Amino acid sequence: MKIIVVSKRHGNTRSFTLGGWTRALLSACIVGIPVGAATIAGIHLSSLKGSDLLTPESTQAWVEALDGQQVEIEQAKLEAEQKLAALTLRVAELQARLVRLDALGERLTTMAKLDNGEFDFSTVPALGGPEMSVDDDNYTAPDFHQVLEQLGDQIDDRQQQLGTLEALLAKRKLQNDVFIAGRPVKKGWMSSRYGRRSDPFTGRIAWHDGVDFAGKDGSDIIAVASGVVTWSGKRHGYGILIEINHGNGFVTRYGHSKEALVQVGDVVKKGQIVALMGSSGRSTGPHVHFEVYKNGRTVDPSSYIHRASR
Ligand SMILES: [Zn+2]
Repeated sequence: MKIIVVSKRHGNTRSFTLGGWTRALLSACIVGIPVGAATIAGIHLSSLKGSDLLTPESTQAWVEALDGQQVEIEQAKLEAEQKLAALTLRVAELQARLVRLDALGERLTTMAKLDNGEFDFSTVPALGGPEMSVDDDNYTAPDFHQVLEQLGDQIDDRQQQLGTLEALLAKRKLQNDVFIAGRPVKKGWMSSRYGRRSDPFTGRIAWHDGVDFAGKDGSDIIAVASGVVTWSGKRHGYGILIEINHGNGFVTRYGHSKEALVQVGDVVKKGQIVALMGSSGRSTGPHVHFEVYKNGRTVDPSSYIHRASR
């Protein structure tokens, strides 16, 4: 077989002589391409609409099918983007909550006057939410697994820190309770101050080791701080006396009671009623004689009465 190619421009001719094998291959190509194309189209069309080939209806169906697929693809993409956006939003929300938790932790640390560095809520591990753009066709899904894992670790860490902080604050609260502050009565008035005064029995100048609060007979006498009862009963000069040891060298005494409501060894809380007001012992009327001891010596209770609870 001989093929002659004629150039349009120059009128030149070139000829090729094809051998048996090449000829067969070329024939296969020339005949094969349309046949193959028709076959493929036929398969596609027949799957679309019967066995009709390239009728206007089938073409229309083909276009519609392609349009439908396009819509489905768009829909799927949109859904995926929406899911991703929702997940991103969730991660952002968790991060925001952590930030709030950190702020709370820092506030508590400041409130508790803890040593700097003991709880460091200000250092945040490198995290940062993945910035997602829904419009961007080339967005890459962030490694949510890793981000969520980091968030989980952070939450665990904060939980532990806040737990320890809570325990510390509870301990601080306990220390506050043994902190002497306030009056030994709910109702009543201070009828005699600490220091030099005229003795109500002899009229001579004498030292008053405490302060007196006068009130209604049988009214409540309360512990000014938590502690352990070390005396409950009659004592010379005091009538019925309650003595409470608060630790740290502090002891308080409540004298002239009508009735003791606690016993030696009882642990009392701040504000707990320990006795009822009376006039037992060396007393001229219903009152409580209140003393504060610091390391074995009486001090003016007024400074403790007037100071605010921590
Ligand atoms: Zn007194």
